[in-house]
Amino acid sequence: MDRYRVAAGAEVRLGDWDPEDTGGVDRDTAKHRIEELNHRLEALQELLYAEGKHKVLVVLQATDTGGKDGTIRRVFEGTNPQGVKVASFKQPTPLELAHDYLWRVHAHAPGTGEIVIFNRSHYEDVLVVRVHDLVPEERWSRRYDHILAFEQLLADEGTTILKFFLHISRDEQKERLQARLDDPSKHWKFSLGDLDERKRWDDYRHAFEDMLSRTSSDTAPWYVVPANHKWYRDLVVASVLAATLESLGMAYPPPEDDLSGVVIE
Ligand code: AMP
Ligand code: MG
Repeated sequence: MDRYRVAAGAEVRLGDWDPEDTGGVDRDTAKHRIEELNHRLEALQELLYAEGKHKVLVVLQATDTGGKDGTIRRVFEGTNPQGVKVASFKQPTPLELAHDYLWRVHAHAPGTGEIVIFNRSHYEDVLVVRVHDLVPEERWSRRYDHILAFEQLLADEGTTILKFFLHISRDEQKERLQARLDDPSKHWKFSLGDLDERKRWDDYRHAFEDMLSRTSSDTAPWYVVPANHKWYRDLVVASVLAATLESLGMAYPPPEDDLSGVVIE
């Protein structure tokens, strides 16, 4: 899965990253492997919680309909809700807007033993904010450096950070929006604003490219996940997460008391 990782300092052109890519894996194989990964992740997350040493942050960004919600559902199936939290970042409230843009974000950073998934994140402050001119360029253009420093701070204090950009094509977005429109049970997810956002496809693309080029670091790498096929998207995210958790070399803590020879009457 290393080929989806953006090297620090690399210049990303999304045209070079195929959203249709399935890595030569077919759907059935992928589904089977995701099931295995769900079991591995279940065990790893329990270990993370039990050991209480590491903090894990998973950042999800995507264009509309990119599949953030589905990824969370599928990849974390089987993990314990006690140790996994989702923080969704919507339009800032007046209170949030009265502060710097990282204020609301920092409060949701994971504690020891926790996995926190950011469903959207501080990156909205160089995406939607940039595309809609919500603050002048002079302000948003400085944010890449703030964000790198912020993530370095979290990493220095024991947080493992993974960032996934779910990459779909313009045609795939059209199909997914159409599917939402055709299904009354999906109407709650559809807003006319999504169509305005779609018109800004190229602006978003540039904003995503700059985000990926400027904020992938060794401590907090971006992965560009081919996401036209949901099963492959889930497989990539689950594989990277499992491999990263395994690399932490976690162990169950020893018992507080000497348990040898203990008999329960
Ligand atoms: P959804 O994820 O569909 O519920 O939509 C959440 C909305 O909040 C999206 O349209 C985001 O662009 C918007 N949003 C999230 N963060 C920010 C931000 N920092 N500034 C402005 N809009 C934001
Ligand atoms: Mg939406």
